[in-house]
Amino acid sequence: SMKIGVLTSGGDSPGMNAAIRAVVRACEYQGVQCLGIYRGFQGLIEADFKELNARSVKNIINRGGTFLKSARCDEFKNSKGRKKAYDNLINENINALVVIGGDGTFKGATAFQKEFNFPIVGIPGTIDNDINGTDYTIGYDTALNTVVEAIDKIRDTANSHNRLFLVEVMGRDAGDIALNAGIGAGAEEILIPEQDMGLERLLESLDKSKKSGKTSSIVVVSEGDQIGKNIFELAENIEKNLKNYEVRVSVLGHIQRGGAPSCYDRVLASRLGVGAVDALLNGETNVMVGIVHNKVKLIPFAEAIKSSNQFDVSLVRVADIISI
Ligand code: ATP
Repeated sequence: SMKIGVLTSGGDSPGMNAAIRAVVRACEYQGVQCLGIYRGFQGLIEADFKELNARSVKNIINRGGTFLKSARCDEFKNSKGRKKAYDNLINENINALVVIGGDGTFKGATAFQKEFNFPIVGIPGTIDNDINGTDYTIGYDTALNTVVEAIDKIRDTANSHNRLFLVEVMGRDAGDIALNAGIGAGAEEILIPEQDMGLERLLESLDKSKKSGKTSSIVVVSEGDQIGKNIFELAENIEKNLKNYEVRVSVLGHIQRGGAPSCYDRVLASRLGVGAVDALLNGETNVMVGIVHNKVKLIPFAEAIKSSNQFDVSLVRVADIISI
């Protein structure tokens, strides 16, 4: 009989619990056994397992984080570690895996799949939305809402004191959070890693908006942006170059990764969880379950882990227009 193992790996994201829940319940629905694997690939190597049934995942659809815990695991990056993981899977009679995580997780799954030809399906769980081939990753929508809520609060202070706020948001190599939350929060400028604006142009733009009568501003800076990489240095540079600009920095940090998942993320996680079990039962492997034009689709890991470095130019245009 079939037995599916499920794990969460890499950085956590809101909605991972909802995804685990969907996988566990889809297994029960299909008459398949399900084993929870704690702490991602680390728990796979240490055989940290627990049988799960429909009732073990009650009361978690609304909770951030992952009750299975997540980890980064260096041992899984070499074949000796992966062999240990394989032996544990065979010992437990697990014959397929669902891995929930980001591109690193899918790279690990690909390496494992190549060595042992073991059926694996992935689910994209990361707030960064930096996975190729899916319109959305689980946790991204929640993170956007968290960021917008935080910037709304910062805006109150920016207004009261006629200040410029630089707000740093997550996204090492993807500006999705910055761009969308920036538009949603009415930011003045948005700095993203995909497009190097350059200090000169930023200064020019800020100077222009001051002259147009703006008294306070929000600049959203993606952590991976070229000139925003050292946000405190950027703040100093702006104060040095533009007179009568008082600049403050706010780094949102890990509040972006937590909190109750939005309804969108819960529904997405539920659809992808069910889709992952369907895929394994259909004999699929080496693929990620994603969402494309609101339909559940299978995308090969090789596609999913391609760094596309693409962004929506029309969205940048909208951001430019509405911040005039
Ligand atoms: P996030 O997007 O939140 O960072 P992630 O899944 O990309 O999530 P990583 O820490 O990059 O997070 O990857 C998770 C784990 O996958 C690593 O700790 C490691 O165990 C495994 N892994 C990553 N890259 C590889 C690789 N090239 N070969 C084997 N295993 C890998």
